[in-house]
Amino acid sequence: MKIVLQNLTKIFPSRNKKSDEEVVAVNNFNFEIPDGKLIGLLGPSGCGKSTTLYMISGLQKPSSGKIFFGNDDVTELSTENRGIGLVFQNYALYPHLTVKQNILFPLQNLKGKDKLDKNTMLDRAYEAAKLVQIEQLLDRKPSELSGGQQQRVAIARALVKMPRVLLLDEPLSNLDARLRLQTREEIRRIQKETGITTVFVTHDQEEAMSISDMIVVMKTGVVQQIGKPQDVYDDPANLFVAKFLGTPPINVFSGHVKGGTLFIGGDAVMDIQTVADQEVVVGIRPEGFVLDENGPLKCKPSNVEVMGRDVSIVSTHDASLNPLVRSIVNADNKINISSEYVRYAVKPHKIFIFNKETEERIYFEVK
Ligand code: ADP
Ligand code: MG
Repeated sequence: MKIVLQNLTKIFPSRNKKSDEEVVAVNNFNFEIPDGKLIGLLGPSGCGKSTTLYMISGLQKPSSGKIFFGNDDVTELSTENRGIGLVFQNYALYPHLTVKQNILFPLQNLKGKDKLDKNTMLDRAYEAAKLVQIEQLLDRKPSELSGGQQQRVAIARALVKMPRVLLLDEPLSNLDARLRLQTREEIRRIQKETGITTVFVTHDQEEAMSISDMIVVMKTGVVQQIGKPQDVYDDPANLFVAKFLGTPPINVFSGHVKGGTLFIGGDAVMDIQTVADQEVVVGIRPEGFVLDENGPLKCKPSNVEVMGRDVSIVSTHDASLNPLVRSIVNADNKINISSEYVRYAVKPHKIFIFNKETEERIYFEVK
C-alpha cells in the first residue's frame, strides 16, 4: 500500500499563556511512500516525527493537507478504519492479560463483517507470535518478559490485524544496546516477510540508516532531504543533514574559496571549479582524510584512539568549528603523534562545502 502525504501540516496552538506563538510541528510535508518499503523518519527530538506518524495513523488531525493510502483519501478516516498497526516506545501491553490475550485483543474488538470466529483468531494470534518468535511465551504475563520480548509482543499485536501500514514510533528506545541491534534486524526481517509498508520513527541516525529503504531527514517540522540512506550520506543537501548522519560525525571547518582554490585556514586544500570567491563552511567525513606527508591540510595531533581494524586520529586545527578533528585511517598506518603536524590530503568525494549563511550545499567540480 503506497502512502501519499500531500502538503501535510500540523500547527499546535501555544501552550504558553503569556505568548501566543503557535508551534508548526510539521510544515508542508510532501512525500509518496512507495508500496512495501520501510521508511526511516529521522531527526532530532522535537522535529515533528511523532506528529507526522500520528497524522498518518489518524490519532491527530492535520491542520491542512491530505493523506492517501493507495488511491483512498484517508484524511478524515478514524484510526480504527485505516487498517494500521501501531507500535510505541513504551510497549503499552495490558499487564493483567497473558501474551496470547494481549495479541488477541485487537481481533476480539472487531465488529460486524470483520468479526472472526474463535479458531481463526487463535490461528492468527499464533502466526503473529511465530513471526516475532515468541510462540513459546504465549501463556506468560508481560511482567514475566524482558523488554525485548515485551516489544515483540507489541509488534505481534500490531501485526495480528494484518494491517495495510505499520507505524513504529521509536520502538527500540527502551531496549539495551545489544537488544536494540537484534530487534531492529528482526523488524527488518518481519517487514520484508510481510511486505507491509512501514514508517519507522527514530532520532538515531545509525538505526535509521541500517534498516531503511529510504530515509526522510527532518528539522523543525521541515523535510530536509529524502533518499536512500547511502545516497543521503554521500550527497547531503545541507550542513544540517551532513552533520546529522555519520559516526563519528563529519568534521566542520570555516574556510574560503579564492581564485578557484579551497582554503581551510591557511591550508590550500583543493583546487575546485565553478565556485566564486566566498567564505564557506567545509565538511570532511572522518574517512575522507588520507595520511600524506606532503598533504595540504595540517592538523596538530593530540591522540590516537584504537578501534580495531581502524584507528581514529584526534587532532586540532585553528579553523575547525569543533574542538577536535577526527580522522579514521587503517590501523596499519604508522602514526607519530609527537610530531608537530599530521598532514592529510582529502578525498574529493568526502569533502563538502556549504554556503556560510544559508548552510545549503555548494556543488563544485575538482580541477
Ligand atoms: P519528535 O517526535 O520529532 O520528537 P513531535 O512530533 O513530538 O517531535 O513534536 C514536534 C513539535 O510539536 C515539538 O515542538 C512539540 O513540542 C510540539 N508538540 C507536539 N505535540 C504537541 C501538542 N499536543 N501540543 C502542542 N505542541 C505539541
Ligand atoms: Mg517523538
